[in-house]
Amino acid sequence: MITLKGLIIREAPKGESNKLIHVLTAERGVISVYVRGGMKSTKNAAATQLYVYSKFCLEKTVDPKGPIFYYLNSSEPEEMFYELRLDVVKMSLAAYLADLIYYARIEGVSDMTEVLRLTLNTFYFLNRGQKDPEFLKSVFEFRLLCDIGFRPDLLCCPKCYKYLSDKMYLNMAEGYIECEDCCTDKDGMYVYELDRSLLHVIRHIALTDLERLFAVKISAKLQLKLTNLTEGYIRYHFRESFDTLKFYRSIT
Ligand SMILES: [Zn+2]
Repeated sequence: MITLKGLIIREAPKGESNKLIHVLTAERGVISVYVRGGMKSTKNAAATQLYVYSKFCLEKTVDPKGPIFYYLNSSEPEEMFYELRLDVVKMSLAAYLADLIYYARIEGVSDMTEVLRLTLNTFYFLNRGQKDPEFLKSVFEFRLLCDIGFRPDLLCCPKCYKYLSDKMYLNMAEGYIECEDCCTDKDGMYVYELDRSLLHVIRHIALTDLERLFAVKISAKLQLKLTNLTEGYIRYHFRESFDTLKFYRSIT
């Protein structure tokens, strides 16, 4: 028997009364858990709902021909994120963030400690409703990519070592920033212009401790630039268009 804590990021019915849940855990990445009787009211109903963080007791079954599966033995909710279910904007953003995590798993990341912490923090603020969902979305998009191995080098221009100038350029393909004098590909599809405040905020998102990650305020104008950049960074690395993002955009 294995005991794990994790956040449920996806669920699907299996047969008439069972369901399969996908759970983000620190130690084992995203795992698939089979819940017997999961579509009916059972003792595990609360702890196996979508977007609930729970403690699970699991049995591991390895099918030599297939992927590793877990069977749920018992579960207990730790954090329900109850308010997410009462608001369509919060709910649709949570669905998009869960999609990003599910997609990131396909890239073969197994240690998801930082990703789980980031997700729980983001869900905490989204649930409470005290931060702009657009800001939470941008922070999550950029930091998620940083945490799974795509943190760009934001320290200085690699050619002349300039740390700051009025205009710098993030080259998403190369994973570095260049100054105005050194950048030769300013109109490139994945080259984004950074003014001082945009560079400051992406340095903050990429490099600050999680405890202080959400403790900044940015203007609506800067948020628009940040949204454009973080969505572009997701597009560049995931090469995927997410229906959940389209739905979120259709209501915001
Ligand atoms: Zn330079």
